[in-house]
Amino acid sequence: MEKPRKLYVKTYGCQMNVYDSERMGEVLGGQGYIATENPADADMILLNTCHIREKAAEKVYSELGKLKPLKDANPDLKIGVAGCVAQAEGEEIMRRQPLVDLVVGPQSYHRLPQLEAATRAGQKALDTDFPAEDKFDHMDARPKARRAPAAFLTVQEGCDKFCAFCVVPYTRGAEVSRPATRILQEARELVDRGVREITLLGQNVNAYHGAGPNGADMSLAGLIWELDKIDGLERIRFTTSHPNDMADDLIEAHGSCAKLMPYLHLPVQSGSDRILKRMNRSHSAQSYLDLIDRIRAARPDILISGDFIVGFPEETDADFEDTMALIRKVRYGQAFSFKYSTRPGTPAAERAQVDPDVASDRLYRLQELLSQQQAEIQNDMVGRTVNVMFEKTGRLPGQMVGKSDYLHAVHVAGAEGQVAVGDIRAVKIISSGRNSLAGELV
Ligand code: SF4
Repeated sequence: MEKPRKLYVKTYGCQMNVYDSERMGEVLGGQGYIATENPADADMILLNTCHIREKAAEKVYSELGKLKPLKDANPDLKIGVAGCVAQAEGEEIMRRQPLVDLVVGPQSYHRLPQLEAATRAGQKALDTDFPAEDKFDHMDARPKARRAPAAFLTVQEGCDKFCAFCVVPYTRGAEVSRPATRILQEARELVDRGVREITLLGQNVNAYHGAGPNGADMSLAGLIWELDKIDGLERIRFTTSHPNDMADDLIEAHGSCAKLMPYLHLPVQSGSDRILKRMNRSHSAQSYLDLIDRIRAARPDILISGDFIVGFPEETDADFEDTMALIRKVRYGQAFSFKYSTRPGTPAAERAQVDPDVASDRLYRLQELLSQQQAEIQNDMVGRTVNVMFEKTGRLPGQMVGKSDYLHAVHVAGAEGQVAVGDIRAVKIISSGRNSLAGELV
């Protein structure tokens, strides 16, 4: 009986890469690989890369350099690069780093068995196609749900928006929505394996338009209402959305679907109409604010999360102040903010860059405001009772940790033995910390 081979996967970047790494592990599991957390123990090492920030590719090359001693010690070790840098750089990776045996783009993970076999036969394997066939149709059902009671589920991939700073349309391709029947089947399988909360993933998830069970087009809201019917599935979330695809039925679902959690990640990037235009975001600051008002009218307690870029080419002090003004109007419970990062091949890369020190100062001020808002919104939770789904034991003895409906991390002292992983219980919030809340079981 052949000794099982060991697979070490290192994941960078977004939740979709986390999901993809799980699926690649399952695909290679079918080839007899078992997962290992120790790269020195591995027969294959896969780096699942992210291309969203500057120097992303250089980071991959430095990571690969660090693997050379492992390859020298074990010449049979196979090293692969997957994800968005693999898609963007392709053959160049093998030219620059000969110890790489396999390069595979995000749309070709279902072909990993053949690619892996080719490397075992001593060949180099490269696949950065955008295949006609849907990779999911060629990937077996999910053997197990690693993240129970919460799991990610990709429903849409790619993006047609072409924001001037973003590589995603080039590395993930055009928007593709998975058929609803496949998604619902995968969701049921996850629930059968202990999952109670599913986060629907897509680079532009609210642009989802998959074939419904009757063949008719189904929107994201339609899909959410179908998922709502699955017994045992208690919580539904989705990310990442574009303001222009927040359809009326999705806003309505936030108001009336009890399983759809009151948390919405809705990137805006800038509050300046001039910069939004330069970014090719196809909406104005006012239309975004109006949208937030409509969403809050449907679900007044919803927690809004956002993404921001400061120092976008040609951003002036006045543009930046527009962004600060928008943030003050929306009040974000959570937010991710970055300095603009030049991405090769994107329209903005050729434009006049903002002085890096100016950009750093703006980022500092913006993050000061956002963390102040986050702290205020967390403090407002003190004294309230919220539902918490417990996910694991805490760092302190007897402590259990979970997430509230608003995606806040909640710690409950002395709960071990009273609640199990996967339980959803009412918790009274008694204090607020830097990035989490403390509570007691009701
Ligand atoms: S909508 Fe998002 S994924 Fe699409 S191009 Fe813009 S930033 Fe990139």
